[in-house]
Amino acid sequence: MAVPKRRTSKTRKNKRRTHIKLSAPGMVECPECGEMKLRHRVCPNCGSYNGAEVVNN
Ligand SMILES: [Zn+2]
Repeated sequence: MAVPKRRTSKTRKNKRRTHIKLSAPGMVECPECGEMKLRHRVCPNCGSYNGAEVVNN
């Protein structure tokens, strides 16, 4: 079995993992009220979706 000759340094390990990070879920600003909301979801603040389609009030 292949065995690494040199121990991976903290720097090297961290550099390798630079792209391993949490990303914010698809948050967008509601065009109706300006609150942050999840994409493709009805706005929990004003209940609008795709313009003026009001689901609850
Ligand atoms: Zn809204």
